[in-house]
Amino acid sequence: MSNLRDELIEHGILADGGAPGLYHRGGAFENVVSGIEALFRSLDPYDSPRWVMSPVTTAQVLVDTDYVESFPQLMGLLDGFHGDAREARTLADTAHDGGEWWQQLDATGLALRPAACHGLYPLLAGRQMPPGGGHYEISATCFRHEPSDNPARMQTFRMQEFVVVGTPEEARAFRDAWLERALDAHRSLGLVVEAEAANDPFFGRASQMMSQGQLEKELKFEIVAPIAQETPNAISSANYHEDHFGTSFAITTSTGVAESACFAVGLERSALALFRRHGVEVSSWPTDVAARLGL
Ligand code: AMP
Ligand code: ZN
Repeated sequence: MSNLRDELIEHGILADGGAPGLYHRGGAFENVVSGIEALFRSLDPYDSPRWVMSPVTTAQVLVDTDYVESFPQLMGLLDGFHGDAREARTLADTAHDGGEWWQQLDATGLALRPAACHGLYPLLAGRQMPPGGGHYEISATCFRHEPSDNPARMQTFRMQEFVVVGTPEEARAFRDAWLERALDAHRSLGLVVEAEAANDPFFGRASQMMSQGQLEKELKFEIVAPIAQETPNAISSANYHEDHFGTSFAITTSTGVAESACFAVGLERSALALFRRHGVEVSSWPTDVAARLGL
């Protein structure tokens, strides 16, 4: 197989963003992303209110969602300059001399958002969900510090998520229904996909136990498709969080602590899987696929 990354860059689909996993997106790529987003939105049976979350969050949200504990290796925090004029001159001199000028910065208390739906739960804090559950469409540009030359593993990428916060039955049924719906949707675009039980990349000593628990309880499923390597990548994920966010953010239903589930479409990865499948010339993609994506 030719190198997909090089091929995409040669054809102006992506441009190198200057560090592993950073990319600029060309018009053809963005048209495909918009088509995928519109297709999945059209499948949402709840006509959910839509929120595009800020790509920057308070660092406190990483604590409240347990991200700090579970995925410290993926976090990205923002530093700022808080010094006076003299310190500003030292900063600039250090930078121009090729020194480690960022050592002179301090934390802002802000972080890059690691997952789209983590922006929702703080908005629902302390609230009781209506019968049937609260349904939302949440998207965001996310950051994960996992530099790689594999174009399927970006450091910034977008997620379009469909989320329910409600009873355990509502959460499980929602997750399972989206998994089926999404398999059909990806297949309708000509992709060869499969659903697999999956686990998150938990950090450290407890990671094996956490991953095992997630697999045994079947909390996470991924829809995988070939992208740049023979081993397929997750192009979307269906997650059942049990009461994790309901407890952390004191969200309830009339019967107790709320549970939640989300279905996350990886917009870049879904687009990349289509470029891998149908080629870099969008004008020669199958007409039914192009029509479904509004191309
Ligand atoms: P997760 O929260 O890990 O289940 O991620 C949700 C979706 O985001 C996954 O199914 C992928 O499609 C996508 N995704 C996760 N990590 C990356 C990455 N490093 N680069 C591009 N897409 C990603
Ligand atoms: Zn989510």
